[in-house]
Amino acid sequence: MKNFEYARARSVDGAIQLSTSESRFLAGGIDLVGEMKEYIVSPNRVIDLKTIPDLDRIDTSSGTWKLGANVTIAEIAKNRQIIATLPGLAEAASEVGSPQIRNVATLGGNLAQHSRCWYYRHRDLRCLKRGGSTCYAREGENKYHSLFSGNPCISPAVSNLAVILAALDARVNVRRGDTEQNLTIGELYSDAWNNPLAHNSLQQGDLIVDVEIPTQKNRSTYLQVSEKSEFDWALVSCAAAGRNTGGHWADITVFLGAVAPTPYRVDSPLLEGSELSKDAIESIAESIASKATPLTHNGYKVPIAQALVRRALARIVT
Ligand SMILES: Cc1cc2nc3c(=O)[nH]c(=O)nc-3n(C[C@H](O)[C@H](O)[C@H](O)COP(=O)(O)OP(=O)(O)OC[C@H]3O[C@@H](n4cnc5c(N)ncnc54)[C@H](O)[C@@H]3O)c2cc1C
Ligand code: SF4
Repeated sequence: MKNFEYARARSVDGAIQLSTSESRFLAGGIDLVGEMKEYIVSPNRVIDLKTIPDLDRIDTSSGTWKLGANVTIAEIAKNRQIIATLPGLAEAASEVGSPQIRNVATLGGNLAQHSRCWYYRHRDLRCLKRGGSTCYAREGENKYHSLFSGNPCISPAVSNLAVILAALDARVNVRRGDTEQNLTIGELYSDAWNNPLAHNSLQQGDLIVDVEIPTQKNRSTYLQVSEKSEFDWALVSCAAAGRNTGGHWADITVFLGAVAPTPYRVDSPLLEGSELSKDAIESIAESIASKATPLTHNGYKVPIAQALVRRALARIVT
């Protein structure tokens, strides 16, 4: 690993001031340290965010809850209020990695984590995402890759939390220099849809401060299929959320994870009705196949995505 300076931030302002064109923020370090060991990133300064007071707070005092960027994934999974009010969020957190990872990894780091594509993570390869000229996965081992992409890189976004936060209409507060950005999850990832070099829309020095989650959607769920039951990423994940008042549905949203460089919205006019029949759920799930562009080795993801959409919608409406 290349030598680097280590700096402890005491405030969000302090972290921004410490930031340089070659520095990186450190939260739990699960992703960043791995990348540094493999020389995928070699910052000149690492700025520890864990020393910033209050960034680990969960504020439930209003109808829109605020979770600080340093809240750990374990805390999200076990927090009683989250389990009761936003069950899909707790379910998504409890599926991340392993207990050891969840105890250390943070909300901010989970949203800002980089591609898990094995070509990107190989220290000796320089694929498109690392500034090279080739996507090795397109004609190579693409079993874990995207079914949908707006650019030649087919590495999917794998953050569990991004998928459920998209379904819950969460917004992310980001400090960019002296300004504050309030981004939807779609906006937080939109650059990755268009630009093979991007993992998300964060610019150098952007700091995720907290995430705002409206609690109006009183039903939510998160499901995933993985090869292993622990210590593994989702092959495909699915989050669904909606508001049920007196048996009438509103604002149902469904997102898929690990199939696109952003959480992928399952769009259908059938989601806009106030009732969701079994036939409607079936049509929504079926519609995914015609939009997907499977590669040599990842076509198996289509029926998994369809099954997860069926199960997630059945779970929230029953
Ligand atoms: C074996 C294994 C299995 C895993 N399985 C899953 C899984 O199933 N689902 C899943 O979602 N994830 C999974 N992960 C990924 C893991 O959840 C992330 O690596 C972790 O959440 C990153 O959080 P961190 O706090 O350690 O971030 P760090 O490693 O500290 O940071 C990650 C990135 O985010 C940046 N960053 C950190 N905090 C901020 C901030 N506040 N603002 C701006 N940038 C910031 C850092 O500079 C870095 O680029 C797995 C990881 C491993 C090793
Ligand atoms: S999918 Fe993206 S990260 Fe993977 S080899 Fe292709 S360009 Fe690189």
